[in-house]
Amino acid sequence: MKLAIVGTGYVGLVSGACFAEFGYEAVCIDKDVARIESLNSGKCPFYEPGMDNLLSKHLKNTKLLSFSTSLSSAISNADLIFITVGTPSKRLDDEADLKYVWSVANEIGNNIKKYSVIVTKSTVPVGTSRKIKKIIGNLVSDDLYDVVSNPEFLREGSAIDDFMRPNRVIVGTENNRSKKIMKELYRPLYLKETPIFSTSIETAEIIKYASNSFLATKIGFINEVADLCEAVGADVQDVSKAMGFDQRIGSKFLNPGPGYGGSCFPKDVKAFFSTAKKFDVNLSIINAVHESNQNRIEKVANKIINYVESSSTLSFLGLSFKPNTDDIRESSSIKIAIYLYEKGYKINCYDPKAMYNARKEFDKFNYFDSAYEACNNTDAIIIGTEWNEFRALNFPEISKLVKKKKIFDLRNIYDASELERLGFEYYGTGK
Ligand code: NAD
Repeated sequence: MKLAIVGTGYVGLVSGACFAEFGYEAVCIDKDVARIESLNSGKCPFYEPGMDNLLSKHLKNTKLLSFSTSLSSAISNADLIFITVGTPSKRLDDEADLKYVWSVANEIGNNIKKYSVIVTKSTVPVGTSRKIKKIIGNLVSDDLYDVVSNPEFLREGSAIDDFMRPNRVIVGTENNRSKKIMKELYRPLYLKETPIFSTSIETAEIIKYASNSFLATKIGFINEVADLCEAVGADVQDVSKAMGFDQRIGSKFLNPGPGYGGSCFPKDVKAFFSTAKKFDVNLSIINAVHESNQNRIEKVANKIINYVESSSTLSFLGLSFKPNTDDIRESSSIKIAIYLYEKGYKINCYDPKAMYNARKEFDKFNYFDSAYEACNNTDAIIIGTEWNEFRALNFPEISKLVKKKKIFDLRNIYDASELERLGFEYYGTGK
């Protein structure tokens, strides 16, 4: 099969490289010329474990993967065309901004020459794939294409594994021809007994938002329970663990912290609520989750402010929105660090991979090359992101570096008693 993938972000690039790993020929297209140049030289534009190897294998060895800025030539003989461009929130409201999707649909309509299946992999509100069909249908005959919804569930930080071994693949189609092609595309996964779940286009679109919103709800829920635990002297980690033994609840996504961030949950929760509103449906729970998560930044930052003197210097460890990625989009760590900075605190920070992106976003922090350097002569340490390298820091060594022994463990990666033995004041989350 020949594939064209439009958009070389996390989803487009990982999909292209993994489809090449399945043995398909994939051309990845982006309008960002510098990005395509960098990809053609074998450099991945973001940090994702395993991507460099997969890129170089299929770009240089198998040659199944290639990159281009020209959509017209890439789609000319593609059996499937994937739309994997961004769908951020609109600037002034909560809706998904679909301008990149519409622009790609127009380009496809203007350039398609032979029958292809157009696959929406971007996360898009219900009704979007139908509208893509309309846009293309206004430009070419209906028998040249079918539109399919195939939302993506990969997680940054474990994207390759998620793509190669997904929990499920959702395929929303409206006829047997495209359904058969999609089944063939995912045959390598079908052989590994991955559930390939066929449904309507609209249902597939809703499955993606409902899934992300549900996970965000779990996070929001446990964060509020953590607040109660903190108020009454209970331990939220024990609460989570005990809840997780119940198989109806499950143990995942019950870790309290500084609120969810990243390029998906915040925008998807908002878009899900605002899409439903258009159909006069009030997803009030989803709206409450969004509000609770927004309030969390101030709540967490003010807790820190309560325990540290004004104008002191704080070490902030971890800036990416989660470990194993350099993505700082909607990162709670960055938001909390900015809040503290704006209240007059100096921020000394370090992240294993996100320093470049963070510096571009906010140059007022002091950036250091290691956790230890960032802790030198500071009044408190804040662990914002649970990178593995922060799980076993040498605290006897850090004791000698810091001005004051105080630690705010926003992700509960340390045992209080261990650090208290070394003379640290320890503040976990929800305990
Ligand atoms: P991204 O913002 O990292 O990348 C999007 C890319 O599309 C950019 O490189 C941009 O230059 C390119 N682009 C925009 N318009 C284009 C056009 N007309 N022609 C060619 N290229 C164009 O996006 P992402 O994080 O990969 O997310 C893509 C979609 O997948 C979003 O809808 C997102 O919600 C969804 N999604 C993301 C993840 C994730 O973990 N990042 C996971 C699942 C689903």
